[in-house]
Amino acid sequence: MQLREVASDARLPKAVDVVVIGGGIVGASAAWHLAKRGLSVALCEKGVIGGEQSGRNWGWCRNTLRHPAEIPLMQQSMRDWRDLAVFGALDTGFRTSGILYSSGRNRNDEASYDAWLASVARYGLDSRMVTAAEVAGLVPGGAGAAVGGLYTASDGGAEPDRATAVIAEAARNLGASLHAECAVRSLELQGGELSGVVTEQGRIECRAVLLAAGVWSRLFAGNLGIDLPQLKVMGSVMRTHPLPGGPDVSVAGRRFGWRKRRDGGYTVSQADATIFDIVPDSFRLLSDFRPAFATGLRSLRLRIGRRFVEEARLARRWQADEITPFEQVRIADPEPAERVLQEAVRAISAAYPVFAGMRIAGQWGGLIDVMPDALPVIGPVLSIPGLFMATGFSGHGFGIGPGAGRLAAELIHGDAPCVDPEAFRLERFRRAQSGSPRAYGTSG
Ligand SMILES: Cc1cc2nc3c(=O)[nH]c(=O)nc-3n(C[C@H](O)[C@H](O)[C@H](O)COP(=O)(O)OP(=O)(O)OC[C@H]3O[C@@H](n4cnc5c(N)ncnc54)[C@H](O)[C@@H]3O)c2cc1C
Repeated sequence: MQLREVASDARLPKAVDVVVIGGGIVGASAAWHLAKRGLSVALCEKGVIGGEQSGRNWGWCRNTLRHPAEIPLMQQSMRDWRDLAVFGALDTGFRTSGILYSSGRNRNDEASYDAWLASVARYGLDSRMVTAAEVAGLVPGGAGAAVGGLYTASDGGAEPDRATAVIAEAARNLGASLHAECAVRSLELQGGELSGVVTEQGRIECRAVLLAAGVWSRLFAGNLGIDLPQLKVMGSVMRTHPLPGGPDVSVAGRRFGWRKRRDGGYTVSQADATIFDIVPDSFRLLSDFRPAFATGLRSLRLRIGRRFVEEARLARRWQADEITPFEQVRIADPEPAERVLQEAVRAISAAYPVFAGMRIAGQWGGLIDVMPDALPVIGPVLSIPGLFMATGFSGHGFGIGPGAGRLAAELIHGDAPCVDPEAFRLERFRRAQSGSPRAYGTSG
């Protein structure tokens, strides 16, 4: 990972309309849309802009195999990725390449692709089943074992090492201020209404806050008395040096996945091999995630080790004048799983021999925030007027990030939303409905 760096603004503003917590693709996109609507915005990031999930992902932007409830927002997001007027002629690296999920990745995937196609038929996507012969045409160079699959020509990808940074910079051009190494510790409430935030660099008065804190959202919300059912899994990724003659279409195959990068190299990984570290929250949230575990266990690799102790040691409650976990862990930077990457190298080289000559330029791990139904939360927190959330993108939030930021900004500003936000309500989770709001460093 070689992230594009974003300079911070020199001074923290005293007061703004909206504070955005989290400089990932969702927070940056929301900041842009808020600033575009004439609101004053401060974007606070505890580490560096794009330093966690948004800079560590594969860069796929896809409708393929999304939950039907997400499709309208993803279609909006695709329009936003493509529309130079949205982020102001930016260079996010977005391009349409096509994405193929090949058959034979898992048992029964042809049947599940068919079922998914039927479930999204009303949205008019260009996704379709393709034959082995079509796959050989779309992705030349296979080792003769081409099988069919599910293909969407309009899917594509952007460059995670720069997209979030350029969107944040565009938000600044519209008047937003950007603050890295500026963890938000808590909210201030007055008479039950939100009145500001306390950051490690000082207070900011505001009337609305967007919590777009990725894998840290549960911890932040928990300190406010909101029980957000969110867990983490870990993905492992590598990138290659430029590889002449490689295919353009992004592919998820059996034990491998790739995307051609703008620099001519490839981002390579495995689509169905995330590590699930057992941590104290795994037990606290077991009942919420039991159905997801039952269906998704195939792709999870359970592990118990250091992360259990690390998470057990993190404070779950603090006051606004105390150092918080957000300052203790500036950037979550887990070790990638070597075995997962080696399996991917073997599988990709066997299936597409051009990759046998790849040279690895770097590898990394990334924690992913997951929700029990794999859908994000985007919308107001009813128990704290003025607080909004956009979190829990469950491993596919990069592609939908621009749309999610737009939707969050519309809800904060009180505009008609671009899509029906009902499926993304926080209150769909029973445990998140209870609890009385708590804020620190507050009067009244
Ligand atoms: C290995 C991997 C592969 C993936 N592949 C894809 C893919 O191909 N396509 C796709 O669509 N998605 C993919 N994803 C998922 C995608 O990256 C995420 O869903 C998306 O980036 C989430 O964006 P975000 O802005 O919500 O969160 P993040 O990018 O995690 O940003 C949240 C930010 O909030 C900051 N923060 C947290 N707490 C505080 C605080 N108290 N104060 C200030 N700042 C705070 C964090 O430091 C962080 O930078 C992948 C993820 C990983 C890890």
